[in-house]
Amino acid sequence: MNYSAGGYIEAWCTKCKLELGHTIIAMVENVPDRVKCNTCNGEHNFRVKPSEKLLTKLKSPVRKIKVREANYNDLLTRLTGGDLSGARQYSMKENFKKDEIVSHPSFGIGIISSVIHDNKMEILFKDGPRLLIRNQA
Ligand SMILES: [Zn+2]
Repeated sequence: MNYSAGGYIEAWCTKCKLELGHTIIAMVENVPDRVKCNTCNGEHNFRVKPSEKLLTKLKSPVRKIKVREANYNDLLTRLTGGDLSGARQYSMKENFKKDEIVSHPSFGIGIISSVIHDNKMEILFKDGPRLLIRNQA
């Protein structure tokens, strides 16, 4: 495709952080050099969408959380069969066992994934594992 100044081009807007329609302001050796975003009117150097690799890198934390949620849901279903009525109210004074289901006032429903020392345990909540106190007289 041939581009020319004043023409339309799809480019990556550095301000909108999106691939949008731009107007070409300046060309250098048949390649768009400066463009103006049709959405925010911002002028910037022409650039294409960041590479897929970069996008994957940006997206990966979200994917990690999804996997974590899937594991959590899986484990919860396996241990309770979907019935959460047996969940015990979390209390730092009580004793808990591995695989018990607890209900925490701030973190929600959790699964005791491991019991550490005499008074600590790791509980898997929907947003990830947390270390909590147990058996504290
Ligand atoms: Zn823009």
